[in-house]
Amino acid sequence: MSGINYLFPEYEVKRDYDRCIACRVCERQCANEVHHFDDKRGKMVSDDTKCVCCQRCVSLCPTRALKIVKTDNTFKTNANWRENMITNIYRQADTGGVLLASMGTPKEYPVYFDKMLINASQVTNPSIDPLREPMETRVFLGSKETKIIRDSDGRIVPHLNQHIELSTPIMFSAMSYGSISYNAHRALAMAAEELGTFYNTGEGGLHEDFYKYGKNTIVQVASGRFGVKPEYLEAGAALEIKMGQGAKPGIGGHLPGAKIVGDVSRTRMIPEGSDAISPAPHHDIYSIEDLRQLIFALKEATDYKKPVIVKVAAVHNIAAIASGIARSGADIISIDGFRGGTGAAPAAIRDNVGIPMELALASVDKRLRDEGIRNNVSLVVGGSIRSSADIVKAIALGADAVYIATSALIALGCHLCRTCHLGRCNWGIATQRPDLVKRLNPNIGKERLVNLINAWTNEIKEIMGGMGINSIEALKGNRAMLRGIGLNEKELEILGIKHAGE
Ligand code: SF4
Ligand code: SF4
Ligand code: SF4
Repeated sequence: MSGINYLFPEYEVKRDYDRCIACRVCERQCANEVHHFDDKRGKMVSDDTKCVCCQRCVSLCPTRALKIVKTDNTFKTNANWRENMITNIYRQADTGGVLLASMGTPKEYPVYFDKMLINASQVTNPSIDPLREPMETRVFLGSKETKIIRDSDGRIVPHLNQHIELSTPIMFSAMSYGSISYNAHRALAMAAEELGTFYNTGEGGLHEDFYKYGKNTIVQVASGRFGVKPEYLEAGAALEIKMGQGAKPGIGGHLPGAKIVGDVSRTRMIPEGSDAISPAPHHDIYSIEDLRQLIFALKEATDYKKPVIVKVAAVHNIAAIASGIARSGADIISIDGFRGGTGAAPAAIRDNVGIPMELALASVDKRLRDEGIRNNVSLVVGGSIRSSADIVKAIALGADAVYIATSALIALGCHLCRTCHLGRCNWGIATQRPDLVKRLNPNIGKERLVNLINAWTNEIKEIMGGMGINSIEALKGNRAMLRGIGLNEKELEILGIKHAGE
């Protein structure tokens, strides 16, 4: 606006001209149009201002001639006015707009999983060798029956409430078709089927090609009700009411009209080119009683055959909220921590609203146990699960299972450039551009997801074996298996664990 460019490029493209053979692969691969061949100079050149550090060109350059480096150009050191704060002000002074961001917050908040250590058996309690002895990683999600039912002869009638069965305590979290590509969705659906777990439609409806994966699909009902119709509810194995999302608690969603094309528009049941705006609240939910009505409306619509999940963002009073949900008829509560990913959210919300999943989970599990209603629901936690060790710690803190999304996308090739909202994902994941979507081969993607989950499941078995525990059920809420390291009294109290050495 002022004619002055206040922003210096964040990344620099370093090209080793001794290696570059001017094959122009990088030019073809970069949807951000960073590279081009300069006829006058007879060599490849780059426009660093457009680079988002997605690493696509680096990975595909046949001669390893490229490197993307963080610029060493710097502002004068200031502990208060850090560089990103200054550049954000320049951006907003230029545009007057909300700064959008994608994926989970990159800010340095404590990661409590990294401040907890796991126990292992030594001498007095035997460890278990998972290669020689059975390890049960199967999990049933849903409310547990609290009454024993007997027939007229007094025999116990086996009975399970509506539930879903997972072969491993890991599910793929909600990512809508629209925010991610057809091929990414397909890879997730196929992997869930092969693994015996579940993927989640997110709020974008279910593409007609994916109805066949219904028994491994969780269908979501969000405030915008996109794609919700009887066949959709019927298709899924479980139904999820999305009340909130960890990356953007308290606000709705917005998929720009430019992404509402072809199949995405049909699947969402909205006209092409119209913005898909999910309101911040559900307009029919202002209390736990209202939530209960929607839960039972969904159960009624599906003949009481499917469990209902209520997904909420981890916020300050999450324990009280979860207590209400556990009494509302929900079968499963999903808690999404503030480090969770998103296709697009205002950066100010993503980076400042909500609480970490570890603290939320521990306080919810404790509250439900204290109130004697823990068995009313299963707990699924998500919001930046990065490894098998995170999963073991989450289960020991009280989770029945976890949701993963960012780590699944990383398995598909995502390099966490955090620009999904631009719709130009060079890895074919967060985009609807046909030329980019086809870069992700769903069959290879499926294999990579299956490999990741199998690897993590094997590691979970190893860790559990080391603890002398042979089932997820025995690990669940077993906080004696965790010790804090470098945590203060209050943090230890909320997590319900002792400090290392105690
Ligand atoms: S892909 Fe590598 S070798 Fe090919 S033009 Fe780009 S930098 Fe040069
Ligand atoms: S945006 Fe990605 S593909 Fe383009 S130059 Fe940067 S790292 Fe390479
Ligand atoms: S999905 Fe694509 S655009 Fe989004 S962070 Fe990953 S690589 Fe970047």
